[in-house]
Amino acid sequence: MNDEKPAKPVRHLLGLSGGKDSSALAIYLRDRIPEMEYFFADTGAELPETLEYIDLLEDYLGKPIAKLNARRDFDYYLKLHNNYLPSPRQRWCTINLKLLPFENYVGNDEVISYIAIRADEPSRAGYLSTKPNIKTCFPFKDDGLNKEDITQILEESGLGLPKYYSWRSRSGCYFCFFQRREEWVGLKKHHPDLYERAKEYEKGEGESGKVYTWSQAGTLDDIVNRAESAPEQKKTTPRSKKLIDRFSDSDDDKDSDESCLICTL
Ligand code: SF4
Repeated sequence: MNDEKPAKPVRHLLGLSGGKDSSALAIYLRDRIPEMEYFFADTGAELPETLEYIDLLEDYLGKPIAKLNARRDFDYYLKLHNNYLPSPRQRWCTINLKLLPFENYVGNDEVISYIAIRADEPSRAGYLSTKPNIKTCFPFKDDGLNKEDITQILEESGLGLPKYYSWRSRSGCYFCFFQRREEWVGLKKHHPDLYERAKEYEKGEGESGKVYTWSQAGTLDDIVNRAESAPEQKKTTPRSKKLIDRFSDSDDDKDSDESCLICTL
């Protein structure tokens, strides 16, 4: 008699960020990989529109989306980092609030993690787990799907884009430092309470009296005031601009392709 336990089946996991690409990938693979497990690493600082979209997606997929939480919240890790706000070079937020919860969720299981990098962004790189039991798979890249295909998938599903795409080009925390100037303006307009909270973090603490800012360009109020006093045509997205062009806007931003794959795809 063989006492060996049967090998645990490989898990198929798809992380949702509340962004367009991972959402489209979930829709694309729903019927192709019925055993897929979906998860969303909630930083506790997500936009309400993101949470709303995750709920809609859950209904569409017909399966629960596991909500992963970090062991501690953002404020805890901020203190741990001497109140230094995270930045593109100091991405402790991604590691603690997104990556580690994912790795804990996986444990030692053999996993295939499906990543929504498109065929038209071959050079995109970001934070991916390097644990040996986690293999990555890039279905959009492998199948040659680009931006237009993603738009089509979302439109045909009836889900469309999350509402924040009218003023912001990617998902992620409301205070994410990858936001462009216009997006901070959008945050102030659409979520004045969250804008105020983001500002609170800039106060800093401690004897040095040092003020930490989300952007090297100055405090949020500096950035927003400059944007609001800029010529009108630079502030607004033309009404005729199509969905797909708004996606392109984010690709113009130097930092966008370096932003977290796990946060914003
Ligand atoms: S969305 Fe931005 S602020 Fe939030 S964890 Fe990712 S990089 Fe950090």
